[in-house]
Amino acid sequence: MNKKAYSDITYPILEINLKKVYENVESIVELCNNQGISVAGVVKGFNAIPEVSMQFVNAGCTYIASSRMDQIIKLKEYGLNKPFMMLRIPMFSEIKKLVEFAQVSLNSEMETLNMIQKECELQGKKHKVILMIDLGDLREGVYDQDEIINLAMHVENHLKNVELYGIGTNLGCYGAIVPTIENLGRLCSIAEIIESKIKRRLDIISGGATSSLPLIIDGKMPKRINNLRVGEGILVAEDLEKFWGYDMKHMHKDTFVLKAQIVEIKDKPTHPIGEVFIDAFGSKPTYEDNGIRKRALLAVGKQDFGLHDKLIPQKQGVKIIGSSSDHLIVDIEDCDIEPKLGDILGFLMYYPPMMYLTENPSIPKVFI
Ligand SMILES: *Cc1c(COP(=O)(O)O)cnc(C)c1O
Repeated sequence: MNKKAYSDITYPILEINLKKVYENVESIVELCNNQGISVAGVVKGFNAIPEVSMQFVNAGCTYIASSRMDQIIKLKEYGLNKPFMMLRIPMFSEIKKLVEFAQVSLNSEMETLNMIQKECELQGKKHKVILMIDLGDLREGVYDQDEIINLAMHVENHLKNVELYGIGTNLGCYGAIVPTIENLGRLCSIAEIIESKIKRRLDIISGGATSSLPLIIDGKMPKRINNLRVGEGILVAEDLEKFWGYDMKHMHKDTFVLKAQIVEIKDKPTHPIGEVFIDAFGSKPTYEDNGIRKRALLAVGKQDFGLHDKLIPQKQGVKIIGSSSDHLIVDIEDCDIEPKLGDILGFLMYYPPMMYLTENPSIPKVFI
């Protein structure tokens, strides 16, 4: 590895390739737009780093979305100029900021909607809402069909400054429920019941997140769905391939790369010596005995990336075997060219480490 080029950098660092992020956003936007679907680019997974969020704007997302108001405010102050969509059902305590900084929000509670109306009057503003239906994933959203219709009628008829922009759903988060023609079809038919009552078309029928992309790829997305809110599928593009079996070869997976430095290389037994009790995080681990193997210890740990099994070594032959708060242990016995002390190893990642690493102020972010 190229040590010299980085001699003035202290590791670990997070390398972010802005061009690759841009190209990933562009692919997903094109895939969706071709089927009449707008994309809300979800920036919460990388803590809404402004430079990265800009790629979402430049590559054609219609909305910039986050579940946290502080991220939306940060981007607004950075000068990013797109409609902002607030993803998490708003707290009472953030309604003032919501009305000031976000144009659209997802909602499910009448009392909250009434408060948004009051705040809009105070600020002399309007605000668009997408009412959320729970189709079985059991996180947010109205579960009962009559209740969502009542809620829609309430917004339409009684809240002057709150515009009933559309309806939406979220799947694949808590209940890990798969979006299908059936459940999203139900979303569309509820939308049509509401439309017949309000005598106009809804602007938005938002059919979920990354986990809804397979329906688009297969050409099976119900026709009335015209919006998705996508984060993971754009950023690390690992889930659709690994968990769903889709060919995502055209998507870059090395948009975010963790680089860490080796501080020790030793031959050691693979099974710990002595009585196994609980590890640094209170769980009782089990170990396979594979005899003596060469291992490298890297100066990066759970405090930085959260979960080591969600990291993917870039170098062939490197295998992650464990971690503690400040260390990552890898097996390097099978490497063709064995890494040396002081070398830098790179790791691709799934969503959770991206979340932790981008949030961590002690990890420098290096843009390429
Ligand atoms: C996080 C979030 C998304 C985006 O999910 P991905 O799996 O990253 O695409 C969409 N909608 C809501 C409500 C969310 O909270």
